[in-house]
Amino acid sequence: ALRARMEERLLSARFRYLNQQLYTGSSRDAARLFRADPTAFHLYHRGFERQMRRWPERPVQRIVRYLRRRPASLVVADFGCGDCTLAASVRNRVHCFDLVPLSPRVTVCDMAEVPLADESVDVAVFCLALMGTNLQEILGEANRVLKLGGTLMVAEVASRFEDIHTFLKAMAQLGFRTVSKDLSSSYFYVLEFAKTGPCRASPAPGLRLRPCLYKRR
Ligand code: SAH
Repeated sequence: ALRARMEERLLSARFRYLNQQLYTGSSRDAARLFRADPTAFHLYHRGFERQMRRWPERPVQRIVRYLRRRPASLVVADFGCGDCTLAASVRNRVHCFDLVPLSPRVTVCDMAEVPLADESVDVAVFCLALMGTNLQEILGEANRVLKLGGTLMVAEVASRFEDIHTFLKAMAQLGFRTVSKDLSSSYFYVLEFAKTGPCRASPAPGLRLRPCLYKRR
């Protein structure tokens, strides 16, 4: 029992450390980290799953519900797809991107550089996946692959937002108009945007999210 408890402690400590790396470095650093040590990725995901079980609802279920209300003909890109729950739950064609394949559906790549043509998808999704510090580059990539008028869905941990209005203003600079925002959960926000045009190249200083760090338990 003691040994099991010690192992558990060690796993949680490693998870917290990896999680911190992901939120405090660029998406490229994350790609390098997991490429160098794929076991770290699996460990991260076990920790992520454990966190999710504590939540009243998984944010990805909200995205699933959203997509089921819209035509199944819409082409979707899931940035940071994890175990591909989204792709497995809808009829749409879903391009799944992540750093290491948890499922054969995954295309392995850094989300700042996905192998999709310009203006080729109708819906881009970031479900708890805006982890890298190069947010502008990552969201710029989503803008590039989205058709004009296409939808960007973001589900993110509520406590990561310092000031939602500043964040939404910065999103407008990146070519994303806010269509709806659900701030009702204390766990996560769900934001829906429409692409109004290309991403502006100038920096959007309001585009900041706090890292999501877990406490030791
Ligand atoms: N969207 C899934 C998983 C969320 S966990 C869900 O809601 O269940 C965040 C995911 O983003 C992880 O699978 C992680 O590996 C992935 N990720 C983090 N940085 C990434 C990057 N630079 N490129 C691609 N995927 C990344």
